[in-house]
Amino acid sequence: MGETLRIAIQKKGRLSEKSLDLIKTCGIHFGCDSRVLKEVASNFPIEFLYIRDDDIPSYVDKGIADIGIVGKNEYDEQQIPLIIARDLGFAKCRLSIAVPNDFKYEGLKSLEGKRIATSYPNILDTILKGKGVNASYVKVSGAVEITPTVGISDAICDLVSTGTTLKMNGLKEVESIYYSSAVMIQNNNLSEEKKQILSRLLLRIDAVHRAKDYKYVSFNLPEEHLEDVGHIVGSMKSPTVTKLFEEGWVSVQTVVAEDKFWEAFEKLKAIGAQGILVTKIEKMTE
Ligand code: AMP
Repeated sequence: MGETLRIAIQKKGRLSEKSLDLIKTCGIHFGCDSRVLKEVASNFPIEFLYIRDDDIPSYVDKGIADIGIVGKNEYDEQQIPLIIARDLGFAKCRLSIAVPNDFKYEGLKSLEGKRIATSYPNILDTILKGKGVNASYVKVSGAVEITPTVGISDAICDLVSTGTTLKMNGLKEVESIYYSSAVMIQNNNLSEEKKQILSRLLLRIDAVHRAKDYKYVSFNLPEEHLEDVGHIVGSMKSPTVTKLFEEGWVSVQTVVAEDKFWEAFEKLKAIGAQGILVTKIEKMTE
């Protein structure tokens, strides 16, 4: 029997669902029941390990897991050098400095000599030192927002997505210093066979990601305007063109970048396109 690639996924939390969804969209079948701690996929040589996300970098480093999905913040904080196989783009958040509403903040230099509570002292220290600011850190693992009120910090540095929790605790966000999203990390010494399995997985992940950026578009067009289509859609190879029964008309199928879609739609309408159909693409390779 061949080898199996072992992937570590957060057992329960902000990363779990999207990590499992990504693997599922890659056509890999498994129970995705994170109440079990370990399970094997039925149609791909991959095995799942459900653990706490802060354990993922060290599990991957020690080879207990071969790859893992973790927030870039967690990976950078732990300072364990591993390969980042892919930035997966979900679980986006920022690490921000927040201070009590009455704190007179005039840039990072206002933090000189202050006590900053954070779960990410290593990331913060690297950034502040880089700006020539010396502060001290109070390492907490949760409820960071409460620390100024109880007198153990002057400011905080925490992950934010909307900022509502900060406001509710009488704090103002004054500076975003670091941006994170989920990444796939990889053990540095994978066997050749495991590397092969990983590249098969990454090929699927890339196809899923690429598909998100494009739409499949088909429409009917007077043949005389066919030459304009290439300039308008400007993606992939030449569109597929089929003659319609009605003389002088063609049907065109092509792929359009999501961010160019509305502009292309308007231009296609302007050259007489009719019956424009837009379809979501599930997977797409180059
Ligand atoms: P959690 O499930 O709360 O332990 O969060 C896991 C990971 O989700 C964090 O390490 C971040 O990478 C990411 N994340 C995304 N948005 C946020 C947020 N608003 N607060 C905390 N973590 C977030």
